Amino acid sequence: MELGEEENKAAWLLGVKTLKIQPYHLPPLGAHDVKVRMKAVGICGSDVHHFKHMRCGNFIVKKPMVIGHECAGTVEEVGSEVKSLQVGNRVALEPGISCSQCHLCKDGRYNLCREMKFFGSPPTNGALANLVVHPANLCFKLPDNVSLEEGAMCEPLSVGIHACRRAKISPQTKVLIMGAGPIGLVTMLAARVFGAPKIIIADIDDSRLSFAKDLGADEIIQVSTNIQDVGEEVVKIQNAMGANVDVSFDCVGFDKTMSTALNATGAGGKVCLVGMGRSEMTIPLTPAAAREVDVIGIFRYRNTWPLCIEFLKSRKIDVKPLITHRFKFTEEQVEEAFETSAQGGNAIKVMFSL
Ligand SMILES: [Zn+2]
Ligand SMILES: [Zn+2]
Repeated sequence: MELGEEENKAAWLLGVKTLKIQPYHLPPLGAHDVKVRMKAVGICGSDVHHFKHMRCGNFIVKKPMVIGHECAGTVEEVGSEVKSLQVGNRVALEPGISCSQCHLCKDGRYNLCREMKFFGSPPTNGALANLVVHPANLCFKLPDNVSLEEGAMCEPLSVGIHACRRAKISPQTKVLIMGAGPIGLVTMLAARVFGAPKIIIADIDDSRLSFAKDLGADEIIQVSTNIQDVGEEVVKIQNAMGANVDVSFDCVGFDKTMSTALNATGAGGKVCLVGMGRSEMTIPLTPAAAREVDVIGIFRYRNTWPLCIEFLKSRKIDVKPLITHRFKFTEEQVEEAFETSAQGGNAIKVMFSL
């Protein structure tokens, strides 16, 4: 075994709020794989969920797992059949490996593959490590003017891009976004670049709203957590839009935000559920259905990295302001970084530099 691999360390999730940096023996490098030295790894809401609860939705952490999936690095070694990449290339990694055999994969909807192996989603080890092994076709070369940190941001940005593609955002689409957290913000950036002429973003947190305003929201609306306020807040949103809301993105996923999105969206519009706050909700679906409002589900993304990189390269999207906190890859800093991300507030994207 070579020295680099011997020394490879990763952040292992061992229990609730327990992360330790310990050796990580990599799987062997396959003919179509590359070994990548991680340089930038971001913390995602789902990582925080694993950290706090040892689960996220139906995915349960049953044994120690390397955490993290938003990542970029430099190619350290290439498998014998790899033609597209060379040692030293800077790459952003798409974290999910699908089976490529099932009907969903063959249909091109590989993000829905039941056999998906996804970085840092149990039982698959993640990317917060010095080195990882990954298929070359899921490693995308970064142009010189796109940093590795920006490369790692392709992952959250992909969620926004996929949501906007699914909702068919165009220069005719007026958009409402519920939630000004990381996903709400990347959805806003994506909707803008897809041409949305007016974007309203709603949140409970004042400082997140002013952040969203600085990032380009046309209107910001502060909302409450009280379900009784939906009627009044919908009127506020519709007045601020001065027209029908064509597409609403619920980037939170609570009864209150989904009810607001459904009621605020005009006839023939769409509501896209991006955030997954709750698994079951009580919502006013029937009146929305009676206006032929379509409800669209979103799960991760597919075929988004090339487009993300194009937008970053051309500066049509700037993700740098979203990176609010940076930490080093030490045991102390890793736990502090996760605590910072878990607190939310002014922490949007917390990023490790390795
Ligand atoms: Zn993520
Ligand atoms: Zn499949």
